[in-house]
Amino acid sequence: MALKLHELEHGLLLDSGGERLMFFAKLDTMVADEAALKAVFDIKGSSGTLPCALCSNVVSKTSMLEGCDTTGSLVSVHETSLEKFCARSDNTIWQGCKLLESRCGQMTKKAFDQLEQSLGINHNPEGVLFQQSLPLASTLMYDWLHIYLVTGLVQLELGLLFPLLYSHGVTVQSLKDWMSSFAWPHSLKPHRNETLRLFDKKIASGDFKCSASQGLNMYPLLRLFLLSLATRGIPGALATAISSCLNLFIVLDLLLKGNRGEQVPPDDLEAAILKHCRGFIDAYGTEAIVPKFHYSLHLPGFARKKPLISCFTHERKHRQIKQLANEIHNPGDWFEKSVFRDVWGEVILQMQ
Ligand SMILES: [Zn+2]
Repeated sequence: MALKLHELEHGLLLDSGGERLMFFAKLDTMVADEAALKAVFDIKGSSGTLPCALCSNVVSKTSMLEGCDTTGSLVSVHETSLEKFCARSDNTIWQGCKLLESRCGQMTKKAFDQLEQSLGINHNPEGVLFQQSLPLASTLMYDWLHIYLVTGLVQLELGLLFPLLYSHGVTVQSLKDWMSSFAWPHSLKPHRNETLRLFDKKIASGDFKCSASQGLNMYPLLRLFLLSLATRGIPGALATAISSCLNLFIVLDLLLKGNRGEQVPPDDLEAAILKHCRGFIDAYGTEAIVPKFHYSLHLPGFARKKPLISCFTHERKHRQIKQLANEIHNPGDWFEKSVFRDVWGEVILQMQ
């Protein structure tokens, strides 16, 4: 029988070559990128009609359900009034699973698919939600690093801002010259060239790509550049777009401050995130909104309960694991075991 995670609270006897010890653990936080959360919980995820597993009434912009909702309780993913979100609890999610279980085979496939869609949950009797082995609402934490810096809101915002800057006279060369004119701190010098390379070519609309570390290294410089423009009278649309970007950078400042272990009042974080989301809608309209904006609105709520955890370390380390995993052509019947055998082998070799 599979061990349920919450059973670890009562202790698990470990036998290590004659030495016995009790191991206790309590599951507190499940933090991962959106694709992993979707896979682990077997939920519909960001492309589903209900893109947020924590809210029962936030619907995707393509569904347009909020327009024909006679109860008035549904809101679109671009909604920024926090009081309008209906939070799900572990119990309501488990009730949803029970409903799916009881209706399975009792209705047409189409109707059952619609029921799954309306709950945002896939019917998976062996899954962690149906087995009640991993509570979702009380453990899930969206990862701010992925929200902002891994194909995130930074990349989205800059993909929209740069074409606007070009159309108002900023050239690739002038931007690059300005960025290159600064002496970098000693610790960041090795990253200077790879970061400045981001500005080598003209960035097409919606096509700004950078790694999380490039984004973090680049944004303080880009902020100075935008502030230097703001002193010369600029047209309204560009000013609104620049203002949205500067708001985004303030959110990054606060998140990084928290990541360094400094105190960041959750109310300050909430005010900064709301200002950014609303300013972004002013600049680019609701059509440009993606589910990560909604996920960002959950961060202050998480921060009120516990420190925000990010996937920084996982992102730094996963390349090594991916490298080994890509070399495994015959994983047997347990892929994870095969991968971790190689990972541990590599770690032990490095220790010798
Ligand atoms: Zn939500």
